[in-house]
Amino acid sequence: MSVSATPRIAIIGAGLAGLTCATALKGMAGVTVFEKSVFVGGRVSRHPFGEYRDHSGEQYITVSNPLFLKIVESWLDAGLLRPWEGWVVELNHGQIVNLDDLTPRYRGAPNMQAIADRLASGLDLRHSTSVAELDRGDDGSWRLFDDRGGYLGVYDLVVIATSADQVPGLARAAPSIARAAANIDMTLCWSALFDFETSLNLPFEAAFVLDSPLSWVARLDAPQPYPERECWVVHASPEWSAQYAASFRGRVLHALMDAFFEACDQPPRKPLASNVHCWRHALPINTLGEDCLFDERASIGACGDWCTAPRIEGAVLSGFSMADRVMKQLRKREHGRAAG
Ligand SMILES: Cc1cc2nc3c(=O)[nH]c(=O)nc-3n(C[C@H](O)[C@H](O)[C@H](O)COP(=O)(O)OP(=O)(O)OC[C@H]3O[C@@H](n4cnc5c(N)ncnc54)[C@H](O)[C@@H]3O)c2cc1C
Repeated sequence: MSVSATPRIAIIGAGLAGLTCATALKGMAGVTVFEKSVFVGGRVSRHPFGEYRDHSGEQYITVSNPLFLKIVESWLDAGLLRPWEGWVVELNHGQIVNLDDLTPRYRGAPNMQAIADRLASGLDLRHSTSVAELDRGDDGSWRLFDDRGGYLGVYDLVVIATSADQVPGLARAAPSIARAAANIDMTLCWSALFDFETSLNLPFEAAFVLDSPLSWVARLDAPQPYPERECWVVHASPEWSAQYAASFRGRVLHALMDAFFEACDQPPRKPLASNVHCWRHALPINTLGEDCLFDERASIGACGDWCTAPRIEGAVLSGFSMADRVMKQLRKREHGRAAG
């Protein structure tokens, strides 16, 4: 690590892991976050669909870790989350085979993008900037460049908070991190939204779907001022999605619509509007089982859901753990400077 007075930290990726890490570190160091998209949030960023404020990706938060529970409580207090008490069932060819009404679930208010926006406020954030190269100087600092060769500044430490597939290319100077990320496989997920003029009157609000091209269906909140309208989001299973990876969007949309009516045992009807989206790197299949990774010699860290667990909780906890690891490194550096 180089020896600038205020440590300069670059965080690549403004998903929930990168934003959590940046927020935890911002009082201790000069933190700059680079995000290749126009929006923050990564896989929870909103895909607007007509008047609906939800989107076709993440649906709800569950909590298993006590630290994450405290974070969720603070988001509830801030009005960024709301409890979701919808009926969630298991469906097999239209039959409800199981009810899951015990798991506490939370939804973003109005969506999970709001949490990402709140975390991002007050950060030095560079949107629409895809970091492509890290070049090490003689003093151990890192010069960052974007995908057009543009210079992005010099940093003492770099945190890579992207999905696993992006990590090996960025972490070439930290081979143990690059290797670990290269071993992570990601699922592909086709998802679709169907907006119906009137209610389908289904006796549940969401369902895990068995023995179907679909794995999940859920009703979204009706847009104002059309309370009678009803929009359903569907996710295809990883196996089906992989099989149709190279298919045309129109073909996939129709196949998912047929599967939706079949799964819910409903006669087909034409939606007012529909949309389909392919998440090329949806979820890590095999996570590392480590909170985050850090190469002290290279001053490069990596975090994200692929380290811990394939969900929002995993991403946030990995970002926190990364911040903690970086703080320890900064303190060590301070002690080194004080000693001599
Ligand atoms: C369809 C779907 C449904 C889901 N449903 C749920 C759910 O119901 N509940 C739940 O808890 N979780 C759900 N998840 C998972 C959850 O969304 C993720 O686990 C979590 O958002 C991952 O956050 P992350 O910060 O680790 O990664 P990401 O959100 O992928 O963030 C990485 C960021 O890095 C940026 N980036 C990448 N490369 C570069 C680069 N070179 N330069 C700059 N920026 C870069 C990306 O644009 C992105 O913003 C779902 C995911 C999908 C896809």
